[in-house]
Amino acid sequence: MDFCNLKSQYSLVKEDIDRRVLAVFEHGRYIFGPEITELEKKCAEFCGVKHALAVSSGTDALLMGLMAYDVKPGDYVITTPFTFIATAEMIALLGAIPLFVDIEETTYNIDPAKLGEMLKNPPVDKSKIRGVITVDLYGQMPDYEAIEKVIKESGLDLFLMEDAAQSFGAMQRGKRACAFGDIGATSFFPSKPLGCYGDGGMVFTNCDKLAEKMGWIRNHGQNERYCHKIVGINGRLDSVQAAVLLGKFDLFVNKEIDGRDKVASMYTEKLSKIKGVKTPAVTDFNRSVWAQYSIMVEDRDALAAHLNSKGIPTAVHYPIPLHMQEVFSGLGVKKGALPVSEKVAAHIMSLPMCAYKTQEDINTVAEAIAEYYK
Ligand SMILES: *Cc1c(COP(=O)(O)O)cnc(C)c1O
Repeated sequence: MDFCNLKSQYSLVKEDIDRRVLAVFEHGRYIFGPEITELEKKCAEFCGVKHALAVSSGTDALLMGLMAYDVKPGDYVITTPFTFIATAEMIALLGAIPLFVDIEETTYNIDPAKLGEMLKNPPVDKSKIRGVITVDLYGQMPDYEAIEKVIKESGLDLFLMEDAAQSFGAMQRGKRACAFGDIGATSFFPSKPLGCYGDGGMVFTNCDKLAEKMGWIRNHGQNERYCHKIVGINGRLDSVQAAVLLGKFDLFVNKEIDGRDKVASMYTEKLSKIKGVKTPAVTDFNRSVWAQYSIMVEDRDALAAHLNSKGIPTAVHYPIPLHMQEVFSGLGVKKGALPVSEKVAAHIMSLPMCAYKTQEDINTVAEAIAEYYK
């Protein structure tokens, strides 16, 4: 069994992708070709956000967002310790310091109440706290109403950036992922809900100023050709990757978002009956896009070995919370300081997931798990 069936997906849209990719080879505008503008327009419309800029990866999307806010050495940016490294890594790359707020045990997302507590009693000079990066973990968004409320109540002037790398296509209270906060950053890494055939990402904002600035940053800070207004990077998406995404877009929107949700329901229906397995919870105001289907279990490593021996791949997103990573040991956040993240990291396990898993696949996985706990 594959973890995700990217080849089945390709067979469904092969003709369209091949045609669009070959068109790029023919027209020769490999950088900033017409596919980029078309994709940006489609994504902006789909997410209901004014500006969408295609960029080189989800990591660069986060970096360019932080650069647009002028995050600088000595600043603090609040985020969750239970995420992929890139979220906090880009804060640190700019010389700023991540401040970690623990997660909720139900959704594994940053806990708005704990965020509120930190903002009330900041552990550092509060004038140096610049903003918050939330992460829509596993395809489900944290409660943005609650998050915006505690930020507002703090009276601090903070930015809110949404790391939507795992949530493109998800919904909360009628609004799409990437539309929360002042900047939304997503990834089109192949295994994300919508993936290209290489690296790619997108930044979103309703703010004209931030959009203009991120546009400069994406292209070496140029505001006119060979006039460099600010420091930027090479953060562009290439036309071939945009062509791939355009070839997949309608299938994703019309079929795969629902398909992923159906597969998740099949899993939950089977697995919730097994004692020893905690299935993922989606709050009533969210619709997850299921970047991962992750369960909490006792004896994770032994269960994984059992499943792997039966040809069922598993993964752990993520085994070490960021405050316990060597790279962040200098922050001085001790083991035990963020207990929920630490507990979840020790017990979480992701199962094969994509829109093309069949009831048969789900039964196979569920039976193997049931057998282990028997
Ligand atoms: C994948 C991911 C990223 C990075 O995206 P890339 O396109 O791989 O650079 C950032 N944040 C989170 C939460 C992710 O899952």
